[in-house]
Amino acid sequence: MTAAPFDTERLLFAPAIAKAGAIPTVFAFPNEYSVGITSLGYQVVWATLAARPDMQVSRLFTDTQESLPTQPELVGFSLSWELDYGHILDLLESLKIPIHAAERTSAHPLVFGGGPVLTANPEPFAAFFDVILLGDGENLLDDFVNQYQVARRADRSNQLRQLAQVPGIYIPSLYMVSYEGKDGAIQSIQPIEANVPSSVTKQTYRGNVLSASTVVTEKAAWENIYMVEVVRSCPEMCRFCLASYLTLPFRTASLEESLIPAIDRGLQVTDRLGLLGASVTQHPEFEALLDHLNQPQYDQVRVSLSSVRTNTLTQKLAETLTKHDSRSVTIAVESGSERVRQIVNKKLQNDEITQAAIHAKAGGLSSLKLYGMVGIPGEEPTDLEQTVQMMRDLKKAAPGLRLTLGCSTFVPKSHTPFQWLGVNPQSEKRLQFLQKHLRPQGIDFRPESYSWSVIQALISRGDRRLTPLLELTRHYGDSLGSYRRAFKELRGQLPDLDFYVHANWSTEQVLPWNHLQGPLPQATLVKHLETALSHY
Ligand code: SF4
Repeated sequence: MTAAPFDTERLLFAPAIAKAGAIPTVFAFPNEYSVGITSLGYQVVWATLAARPDMQVSRLFTDTQESLPTQPELVGFSLSWELDYGHILDLLESLKIPIHAAERTSAHPLVFGGGPVLTANPEPFAAFFDVILLGDGENLLDDFVNQYQVARRADRSNQLRQLAQVPGIYIPSLYMVSYEGKDGAIQSIQPIEANVPSSVTKQTYRGNVLSASTVVTEKAAWENIYMVEVVRSCPEMCRFCLASYLTLPFRTASLEESLIPAIDRGLQVTDRLGLLGASVTQHPEFEALLDHLNQPQYDQVRVSLSSVRTNTLTQKLAETLTKHDSRSVTIAVESGSERVRQIVNKKLQNDEITQAAIHAKAGGLSSLKLYGMVGIPGEEPTDLEQTVQMMRDLKKAAPGLRLTLGCSTFVPKSHTPFQWLGVNPQSEKRLQFLQKHLRPQGIDFRPESYSWSVIQALISRGDRRLTPLLELTRHYGDSLGSYRRAFKELRGQLPDLDFYVHANWSTEQVLPWNHLQGPLPQATLVKHLETALSHY
């Protein structure tokens, strides 16, 4: 453990003084401090817990920690990257807590988890948690702690049963999964008792004040960044997109009540501002926000944006970013083929992409980053040729603008219409094709690792039978080879890698997250899938 970086922190909330009998709690991020403290979700949950006088919260990271209670009652984890699960197990061991919930007794803390990975599909990790919080933390966190206070003196089994009554609180041990044979599909997922809810609904916060940083520090991965959440979810509903489908409906922060006060609060301690959200430029008052930031008192502020919707990349936006020290902007185009974009419901024409590049250049930006994807269901080799052509056309339309194409492989995500569709094994070759044709043109092509996409898909569509596999690979390393080796060792005890990753699943199949209700009912997702297939 290195020296604590906490003394560089500037807090933007008032931690409570813990009162007598406060719940001793550890709230951990399963990675290094610089990564964890750059997660807006982690910051906000920590501040929510630390602002309660009935909680005594200490933070724990893989490389540093605050002074920890000798006997915590609650140990929480925020999981935002799948492969950090190994660190969760390491941290549990370092706290002398059994890694399996089933082996914990009343002498052990309750281990709870939340965050995007667990909300999407907690099942591969279900065995490690006593409690999983599904959805937006705004109301859910307080509901959790309040109910824990009520159940605090009960034995562990009763504590869990009482917590299970709270909407959004998922207690994996209270559900039993049966399979059509050890390596077959799931047969059913049932609560183990009549008074346990048959499904758990992900919680949705509907207020117009969204999140903002609760701490600013030079030790963050984005040094001294102050982050403001401008929108939550995305109204575009691209068929593969977890950031949209899992967090629907689209919500926007009120400019007067939320965004401007938050920005002004943060800029008292830093001059680096990050505007966050899946589609920030779709905020209905985004123009007014730009006008606000273009006032002289903000001249020194460095503004970064997460990716913007292509047809909202105006010259004014590019000029504002240039003025505030950004050189580049990112747009997600998915493919150069309009047919493929129709399949995924991306409402975007090639001439709008060209216009975006022209605006970026005219506004003074020096580079444009595009995001694409290969292996989108229904994609043919000719669609890739169109992607190459689109990049060539962009070069001609905006000469001198540096072009980067970041490219990932399609991975099926739970609660999206494409959750039933597998990873195309041709994807790796398709990435190589793009590389071969784009790099000689002077286009910076940055493929995401295909092997990593396969691992992501495995975890994304995994069920509880992956638990022993995750425990094995934790010791073998994070490579795809490690996962293959573990599959070999466990042959006969679970389906093979292909089943989870590459197979198209029947819409009749019981999904690992069947008992966990996302924003849209299954029947709606099936309809959206059918619309997508009609464009093949
Ligand atoms: S526009 Fe981007 S964030 Fe919105 S649904 Fe499509 S891929 Fe997701």
